Amino acid sequence: LVSRKQKSEDTVVQIDDVKIGAAGHPQMFVGPCSVESLDQVRQVAAAVKEQGLFILRGGAFKPRTSPYDFQGLGVEGLKILRQAGDEFGLKVISEIVTPGDIEVAVEYLDMIQIGARNMQNFELLKAAGKVDKPVLLKRGLSATIEEFIYAAEYILANGNTNVILCERGIRTYERATRNTLDISAVPILKQETHLPVIVDVTHSTGRRDLLLPTARAALAIGADGVMVEVHPDPETALSDAKQQINIPQFREFMSELKGTKIAS
Ligand code: PEP
Ligand code: MN
Repeated sequence: LVSRKQKSEDTVVQIDDVKIGAAGHPQMFVGPCSVESLDQVRQVAAAVKEQGLFILRGGAFKPRTSPYDFQGLGVEGLKILRQAGDEFGLKVISEIVTPGDIEVAVEYLDMIQIGARNMQNFELLKAAGKVDKPVLLKRGLSATIEEFIYAAEYILANGNTNVILCERGIRTYERATRNTLDISAVPILKQETHLPVIVDVTHSTGRRDLLLPTARAALAIGADGVMVEVHPDPETALSDAKQQINIPQFREFMSELKGTKIAS
């Protein structure tokens, strides 16, 4: 179902008047790694709005490597994200980690994210296939492109055709970056599937200094969007403190991307 051979035209995921996958109009997915407080999310939402952008992200259920790290605010985090989204007129997306949370999540979210660690959580994929909300599916840490495509197929096979693919870097022997951004996955996924493809520059690089060049590369190679984590005070962030950018840095990042087409 995801194959270009089955459907030659691009799938455009639409939430009201916000389109993801419209040729020549890439979207930015911006927000903190974790939802920490209403004030924190509001500050980022205001910056997203100020840039004329449409989509706010923030993690409420955090899949952390260590069980002792901040696990997220859960449903309370979804409510905060919704409140900030409504106040600033933004669409909101957050990660869901168990099928049981999907029902409550759809009450608050415009899009559901399935994270890298859950790309092959088949019960979660099936559950996401049954809801009437777009799903952003991230590539697994060690997933081949073929496995990634099959994971998306699970969602479509269960009835949901509004799927966005996200390349977020894969694990290789290279330690200079947190993961290795597989930039060629973008045109390969665009050729093999009809789904929108975006690039997460934060988790793929894990380095602030690489966000801008990788975002440029993503847009140049034909990505339908870029995800980037922004926090009002990254040093004090409860997760991913080393790689989020602050609001002035985000403004600079966006101004450097000008001239590259971003939907506005
Ligand atoms: C995230 O986007 O918040 C996240 C945890 O990313 P990933 O699943 O790609 O590691
Ligand atoms: Mn993060």
